[in-house]
Amino acid sequence: MGKGVVTERYPNIPYVPHDGIHGAPSFNMDKCRSDKTCEEICPTDAIHIEPDQLCIDLGLCIFCGDCALACPHHAVTMTNEFELASKRRKGLVRVHAIKQ
Ligand code: SF4
Repeated sequence: MGKGVVTERYPNIPYVPHDGIHGAPSFNMDKCRSDKTCEEICPTDAIHIEPDQLCIDLGLCIFCGDCALACPHHAVTMTNEFELASKRRKGLVRVHAIKQ
């Protein structure tokens, strides 16, 4: 084992995640056709689509990426956003308006 400091000064020094990690899914509402493919494929029921909005609950999401793989319109991408903590449960829920 090497000697010396092996920990990082996070969060004082920002952590840059590796390429390809699965952080929060991102929804491009210009591409979304609200066909519910992502809602149906999600293994944790983290996505709910209503007539006028799409809700993603990051408290339920396990960052598997299935929604991004399944979307036929390429409206979902996995970001490297990993700092998702919230002091309130509803702070983990993101709501996106569906364009009609
Ligand atoms: S990444 Fe996985 S768990 Fe999270 S919303 Fe997409 S399908 Fe659901």
